[in-house]
Parts: sequence; structure tokens; C-alpha cells
Amino acid sequence: MTSTPAPYRLFIDGAWRDGGDGSYPVVNPATEEVVGHAPEASAADVDAAVAAAREAFVTWSRTSPAERAGVLDRVADALLRHSEELVPLLQAETGATIKVASSMQVPVAAERFRRYARGALEPALTAFAPHPVAASPLAAGGLTNAAAARRPVGVVGCITSYNFPIVNLAGKLAPALAMGNTVVAKPAPQDPLGCLRLGEIFEEAGAPPGIFNVVTGSGAATGAALVASPDVDMISFTGSTAVGRRIAADGGPTMKRLLMELGGKGAGIVLADADLGAAIPAIGSTWAFHSGQICTAPTRALVHESRYEEAVAGLARFAAALPVGDPLSPSTVVGPLITALHRDRVEAHIAGALAEGALLVAGGTRKEHAGSSPALPATGFYVAPTLLADVTPAMAVAREEVFGPVVVVIPFRDEDEAVAIANSTDFGLYDYVFSADTARAYALAARLRTGNVGINTAQRHPETPFGGFKQSGVGRDGGSYGLNAYSELQALVWQS
Ligand code: NAD
Repeated sequence: MTSTPAPYRLFIDGAWRDGGDGSYPVVNPATEEVVGHAPEASAADVDAAVAAAREAFVTWSRTSPAERAGVLDRVADALLRHSEELVPLLQAETGATIKVASSMQVPVAAERFRRYARGALEPALTAFAPHPVAASPLAAGGLTNAAAARRPVGVVGCITSYNFPIVNLAGKLAPALAMGNTVVAKPAPQDPLGCLRLGEIFEEAGAPPGIFNVVTGSGAATGAALVASPDVDMISFTGSTAVGRRIAADGGPTMKRLLMELGGKGAGIVLADADLGAAIPAIGSTWAFHSGQICTAPTRALVHESRYEEAVAGLARFAAALPVGDPLSPSTVVGPLITALHRDRVEAHIAGALAEGALLVAGGTRKEHAGSSPALPATGFYVAPTLLADVTPAMAVAREEVFGPVVVVIPFRDEDEAVAIANSTDFGLYDYVFSADTARAYALAARLRTGNVGINTAQRHPETPFGGFKQSGVGRDGGSYGLNAYSELQALVWQS
């Protein structure tokens, strides 16, 4: 791996080049200092990246599964070898706590490359039983055989959100490459530096030039150029529902294949028989895990009225006990939000909820928090873990995604009402049910219009299909579903 180019450069066709439109600063959300300058790609840079991916597709799509597996395995090896340099960079650009940055950025990304190295070897052909067909004006009769083969889609534009930059990208890149596609990645403007360094990792792994290209930019133009390009066959997008809608519209004229992982407004349904000892830490992960900048977070605690007071008190205690501050301190649990702009957005959600009549139980905007102990750091984009009670399903804070350390609590009388509230937003990404009776939770899950349901846990399983109902997305990735997402089906018919 070569020493880090400064400023960072675009990775196109296996070579490094400056951004045609200059560069822009990437800011550490905790220190507010510049971590590095990311290239500002021009339209010509995006075209060059797409052309490189198009050309590389011709050869890469015809490589053997074993060859693709070998490249992905070597990428995983190289990532782990460079973990010590990558973790501080990823920590600095994301503001993740050191615990999250070291345990959940590089190792999880490496595991995704490893998983899809195995995935490249999974069968891509499904055979059908021979089918007797009578002679017709179309063709002679006979026992007709058929199979469905999975083929790569082509050039995939991977456009990602901030929070877990290389993990998120690896979740797209690895299955796409395993299936024989080539990729142009467009990381989030806020934390693109680790993704640019993935280019060096690919170089070191001996990956063929052009199979993976990275273009970055501070605004919407870079991603929009990928979506508009007639030479991009598919867009795999992770980000907000608003931008997802834009991409669906802009990708329509060229009939883009779309995988959309969008926003969420998770409900954590706490039934009367729930173990609050399990429910509170799971719901509290909205504060404790990456400051709630997590699409799957259980941000709405729907609590049976018989447990409401107890749950609010338990959540308040949990929130108050979380150390907020310097993400480099090993004891810190809640670090900063990604930008000042996003911190202001989250504060506007809190202020709006209070104006609508919600009760502030913990945290609040800097205004409410002023004078509280311990104080928030003066530098950095912090929001204290915030708990809002007496929230109604009609309030904006109960319907809109906040993407920050804010939990709302809403009481319900019975399961029908819990289901109605849980399903009452435009989103449907990840809900949770807490009950001592897992059969009851299982039955309740069937009524939830959501792509994922956690039963008594916020833990994940990497082989499950991941994606959203309603406006939380289109399609599924995760495990072998990820391979399917990056393939087209081709039917083959023959007579013997
Ligand atoms: P965002 O939608 O603002 O941006 C996402 C990406 O889209 C960025 O790379 C951005 O530059 C790009 N973009 C913006 N306008 C574009 C356009 N017109 N055409 C093409 N690309 C464009 O999202 P964000 O603020 O970075 O991330 C937060 C959002 O991401 C939240 O809504 C969160 O729920 C969602 N998210 C979803 C998942 C999931 O798996 N479902 C995971 C993480 C984050």
C-alpha cells in the first residue's frame, strides 16, 4: 500500500487522479478540524470512471468464480493488514467512538469481502424438471429442459450514506463483484476518505484495474451523474428516502435496476409481559450506538400502558448513565453527530416535538441541556441522549426520521393499537417486539409492515434478507440475497 496521497485522489481504472473540480475539506465531527481533502469529481471524471467499469466488465464478468473469490479474499486480507492505519482515519471522519470504530468498521467490512468470496462460489444455476411439450406451430414436441442462470447486471453505481462508510460500501461492492459486475462507488460527502483508500487496498490485492472505481464530491452532482449515465446499469443506493425518490425518478429514463436501502422509523413494541431488562438496552441502542445515526434504530418505544411509567423511568436512567464526549476516550458511549448541519436538524426535531406538547425527560437541545451536568463538549457536534415522553403518533417526531440520539415513548392499550401505531409511518425498515412469550411476538411480527423484526434483541444475523417495506426501500441484500440483488435472471431452454 502506497503512502496516503494528500490531498486524496480519485481512483479510476486502477490509477489515481486529482478531482477535475478541485477538492473539499472533510471535517472531524468531534474536533471540527480538517481530516483531509477529498477530490471534487467533475462530470468528466464520472464519465471516465463509468467507461473504465464498462471496459473492465467485459473481462471481469467472464472470470471464473474461483478467480473472483480469490480477489475478494485478498481484499479482506489487505484490509485487515492495514487496520491500524484505517481505524484512526475512519474514526476521525465519522466521529465514531473508538470502540465502534475499531470493532465495527474494518473487521466488519473485511468479513463482508470474505463472505462474498464464498458467495462467488455459490451455484448460479437452477435447473427445472423436464417438461413434456406437445408439438405446435412454434416447434417440435418433446421433453423440454430448462434452467435459470444468474448473470451479472453490468456496471453498478454504488451511492452510499455516511455512518459506516467502508462497511456500507463493502456490503454493495463485495456481492456485486462476486457476481461479476464492475462498480463505480460514490461515497457520502461527509466521510469518503476511507472509501478512497479502498482503492489502495484493491491495488495491493492485485485486483484488475477498472472493476472498482471511486468518485467523490461534496454535493449531489457526482451521484446524479452516475444515475443519469446510460452506461450504468444499476444503482445500489443507501441513503434518505427523499434522495431515493429523486434517484428513482432520474433513473427511470435509462430503466436503472435499483436496490434502495432508505430511511427508517423503527418501533420497539414493549408488550405487558416484556422483560424491561432486555427492552431498555435494545431501545437505548438508539443513543448508545453511533449516536442514533442508524437506519434500523428502535427510535419509537411503543409501551403497553401498564408498563409505561416503569419504561419511561428505566429509559431515563439508561440515557442519563451514558457517557457523552470525546469519541477517543474508551469510556465514551455517545459521540458527536456527523456535521453541524445535522446536529441543527436533530435539534429542530426536538424543539418541534416540545412545541407540539411532548415531555422532555432527558437530554434536549443545547438550550435545554445548558447547565446540566456533565456539560456537552464545547467543540464538536453533540446532542445529548434525548428522551421524549407523552408523544402521540400524529406528532412529526413520531413520523419523521430524526437519525440522531432521540427516543420517543408512546403508550398503547392493546396489540391492535400497537400494530396500528407501528405501521403508521411511511417507513418499514426494522421493528422490534419485546415479550416473554416469543410465540406471541412471532405472531405480532406477521402484522408489522416492515422488512425486519427483532424479537427481544437488537442483534443481527448476517445471512438474513435486509431491506425495507414501503418507503424504506426496494429490494434486499444480506447473505445470498445480496448476490441475487446484483444479478439478472436468464432463462435457458433446450430439448434433448
Ligand atoms: P442522503 O440521502 O442525504 O445521501 C446519501 C447519498 O446520496 C450521498 O452519497 C449523497 O451525496 C448522494 N446524493 C444526494 N443527492 C443525490 C442525487 N440527486 N443523486 C444521486 N445521489 C445523490 O443520506 P445521508 O444523510 O448520507 O444518510 C442518512 C440517511 O441514510 C438516513 O435516511 C438513513 O436512514 C439512511 N440509511 C439507510 C440505511 C439502510 O440500510 N436502509 C443505512 C444507513 C443509512
